[in-house]
Amino acid sequence: ALLENAREGRVITRFGQHADIEDPQTGIIHRCNLRRTVQSLVTGDRVVWRPGKETLHGIAGVVEAVHERQSVLTRPDYYDGVKPVAANIDQVIIVAAILPELSLNIIDRYLIACEVLNIRPLIVINKVDLLDSEGREMVDELLDIYRDIGYPIVLVSADTGEGMEALERHLDQHVSVFVGQSGVGKSSLVNTLLPDVDAQIGDVSENSGLGQHTTTAARLYHFDQGGDLIDSPGVREFGLWHLEPEQIAQGFVEFRDYLGGCKFRDCKHGDDPGCLLRQAVEDGHISVERFDSYHRIIESMKEAKDNRQFSR
Ligand code: GDP
Repeated sequence: ALLENAREGRVITRFGQHADIEDPQTGIIHRCNLRRTVQSLVTGDRVVWRPGKETLHGIAGVVEAVHERQSVLTRPDYYDGVKPVAANIDQVIIVAAILPELSLNIIDRYLIACEVLNIRPLIVINKVDLLDSEGREMVDELLDIYRDIGYPIVLVSADTGEGMEALERHLDQHVSVFVGQSGVGKSSLVNTLLPDVDAQIGDVSENSGLGQHTTTAARLYHFDQGGDLIDSPGVREFGLWHLEPEQIAQGFVEFRDYLGGCKFRDCKHGDDPGCLLRQAVEDGHISVERFDSYHRIIESMKEAKDNRQFSR
């Protein structure tokens, strides 16, 4: 049955049995209760909600239904296997930095996760202010590995502001998350891009009597220059914890043409005779760095499995 007064909305954040729902028409955020049928709702979900008649305890409405998700980020959960963290993200900003070290292997791990999730990645190299012109040339050349296989790259400095306009252009029209190792400058970048973030957090509809929640739940923010961000400590740590070796190989986009054509069906792409992948490296179609990176990731996942831990 059609719901009376039903409206479209977007989940800005969710905490327990409540969620803050933004009305896309007005930009006003309404704190809502959740129907029993929408328990899986997370930040970024598009929903149908209904304003309530009265505003008991500051609750302004009820979420009735969740629209199908375009994408979902999950995290491992002891009881349920996986738990959704955020929905409808269409761009993962992989942040890496010159200092402490520029790790291509880590970038590759995030790229695989993006490929498996089918979400567009953007590689952001931060702290370029630390490079002299020679270092800059070297780094730029190294990054051709990624440009050659079609990944966009932006070089930035949160400190000097260099490259930030280019980054903002990539954020426009997208719902993005920032991921990357601790210390690469995610907070610095987000703080630069969202100078008035405290104002956004306080922007709950006037009849909200529940007060502010100091949760670590993911939250959706709007960039002034266009585009949205979904952010939380958990989102930033999103990783590679549930992949099979075959998915890892598929996650290297430039490997795909060569997979399945090796002489042996269970080819490990090591020293196996008749390995098309190794041949492609020798012929210069696949970079040595990416090929080595693949093997390092497979090895580390084996070790992690042996340790009965989640591998990331
Ligand atoms: P996060 O752990 O990824 O959130 O990283 P932070 O934003 O906390 O930054 C880690 C450290 O790197 C801090 O000491 C920052 O001041 C520093 N940092 C961040 N961005 C830059 C930058 O563009 N240039 C330089 N030189 N340092 C930066």
